[in-house]
Amino acid sequence: MPDPLTQARFDLAVANRICALEGIIDAFGHVSMRHPTKKDRYLLARSRSPELIEPGDIYEYNLDSEPVKPLPKGIMPYGERVIHGEIYRARPDVNAVSHHHGMAFLPFCNSGAPLLPLYHMGAQIGEKVPFWDSRDEFGDTSLLIVTPEEGRSCAKALGPHWLMLLRRHGVNVAGRNLTELVFRTIYSYRNAELQSAMQAQGLTPSPLTKGEAKKAWDRNLEPRPQARAWEYWCTRLKKAGEYPKAGKAKR
Ligand code: MN
Repeated sequence: MPDPLTQARFDLAVANRICALEGIIDAFGHVSMRHPTKKDRYLLARSRSPELIEPGDIYEYNLDSEPVKPLPKGIMPYGERVIHGEIYRARPDVNAVSHHHGMAFLPFCNSGAPLLPLYHMGAQIGEKVPFWDSRDEFGDTSLLIVTPEEGRSCAKALGPHWLMLLRRHGVNVAGRNLTELVFRTIYSYRNAELQSAMQAQGLTPSPLTKGEAKKAWDRNLEPRPQARAWEYWCTRLKKAGEYPKAGKAKR
């Protein structure tokens, strides 16, 4: 049985690769998790596309998003890591975060049109999806969220919710654990695809009621569907030859 940190590094590499293989995250975007035993740290890969991440690519950061140990020469951190650090600081109940620019969300990110839970899996978007516009506080930027102030503003806008739209940019997703986070990252995306498809076909969306969404949310997060989904995604990675190799996680 590996120690908790070795296991967490491996699981996080798997999570990054799942989100890539399922078509949510491309060259950019990232998935992090809180350190399994030190709550004031989080784990995040070096600047590398999620599909390629090995357990040995994953480093520890404090909540100011500084590496706990200096990164080896030539190893660069993600520019947008403050998103993760500031959400972990603001939300003790969040233990995993993803940030991505998946195209199914972009019509909503650009326009601010509200996302609706349109099928049972779509309940994972949560009761409210905040909409954050970098221009409101920061004017003209590169759109990337790179300063502590930008990260804090994002985390504040997320509030108690689990998914937020970043205007003209992408989304931040939160979960209580890594499986829930991957589940929400994937099914919130499928829900956005469904909503776009319906609108493109001129169909009127019929969202879940608040009561339905709550019940579906709870049901989706039960251990059995969570384990079933994780097994499915891992098997798909293995079949594709993309499951990470254990080891190389000595730090
Ligand atoms: Mn981004």
